[in-house]
Amino acid sequence: MIFDDLKGQLGALGKNGLERRRRTLQAPCGPLARVDGRELISFCSNDYLGLASDPALIAAACAGAQRWGVGSGASHLVSGHLEPHQALEERLAEFTGFPRALLFSTGYLANLGIVPALVGRGDAVFADKLNHASLIDAVQLARADSRRYAHGDLAALERLLAASGAKRKLILSDAVFSMDGDLAPLPGLLELAERFDAWLLIDDAHGFGVLGAQGRGSLSHFGIAASPRILYMGTLGKAAGASGAFVAADADVIEWLMQRARTYMFTTGASPVMASALLASVDLIEQGDARRAQLRLLAAQLQAGLADTRWRLAASPTAIQPLLIGDNFETLRVADALFADGLWVPAIRPPTVAKGSARLRISLSAAHGAEQVARLVEALRKLA
Ligand SMILES: *Cc1c(COP(=O)(O)O)cnc(C)c1O
Repeated sequence: MIFDDLKGQLGALGKNGLERRRRTLQAPCGPLARVDGRELISFCSNDYLGLASDPALIAAACAGAQRWGVGSGASHLVSGHLEPHQALEERLAEFTGFPRALLFSTGYLANLGIVPALVGRGDAVFADKLNHASLIDAVQLARADSRRYAHGDLAALERLLAASGAKRKLILSDAVFSMDGDLAPLPGLLELAERFDAWLLIDDAHGFGVLGAQGRGSLSHFGIAASPRILYMGTLGKAAGASGAFVAADADVIEWLMQRARTYMFTTGASPVMASALLASVDLIEQGDARRAQLRLLAAQLQAGLADTRWRLAASPTAIQPLLIGDNFETLRVADALFADGLWVPAIRPPTVAKGSARLRISLSAAHGAEQVARLVEALRKLA
């Protein structure tokens, strides 16, 4: 019976330490979370700059709601594209140095829309093995021939490109890998894209706002200028503190995506409240050097504090600082012990990461204080 079957599958998740729990928060996103009436220091969110409940964003959202209402009422191509959406697209294009940008409701939808609009049956996609789930799903949806190369391995990618007879090629990579915090070799990827006449889609969910001059992202971090073959995707629910995503690229590429990306065409336009808040957010990102300096300071503090424990902190120049533990149950036990001690750090297990590489994904925010990171270091050292 299908229902008994499902119950069995659910039971198996529990037995293998793979069951997920969610907790209901009783306070806004910030370094101090409130759960079941308890206050916890949270190292969970992707709110890297501490903007999610920033007063300037809240004020901009309220003013946006007063001026534009709450809903956009239709998809962007029908009548759901309002002035704040247009202003935000122009601001993001200018900020990232590309001719034009297009907004999506989420990063997941952006990737699901972009990839099938660029490639289809008979074309080829070349993807880093550790790419985010949304890019993996996007490739399935595109029905293109898919090749995965070992994480960050430019030589392997070069061999795959050289062996491919596909007319249209697309290289896909996270810029900052979401469970490891390390960077893709973007200059090398661009060089290969040029040599083999391929598109290059960069997903900068974790670099936008955090890396590069004034937080312009991973391309800026590497000093890479806009190129007509780069599609730069950034999300707006992480460092930008709200929700949504955009892709910035050559004007013709954006026009094509607007005409063809199904997750753009067949969905209601993002709320004008969100676009209004995001306009304020881009200003704060641009002026956010002090926040980014604080983030780097906290990462250095964490790395120094955990340098000689038996668990290895992955080398990451970003806000994502994964502590590799390995075993699913041990990882859960450590996370539970931290939680009991008032520290909330998510345990990341397969299938999100490879088998045997369960970890604590410590995520830092500029809103954290040094004393909060010190508390975490102390608790982890005791547990190790
Ligand atoms: C979070 C994330 C996404 C999805 O973005 P959402 O706006 O949360 O849907 C896409 N790619 C990467 C690498 C991410 O980390």
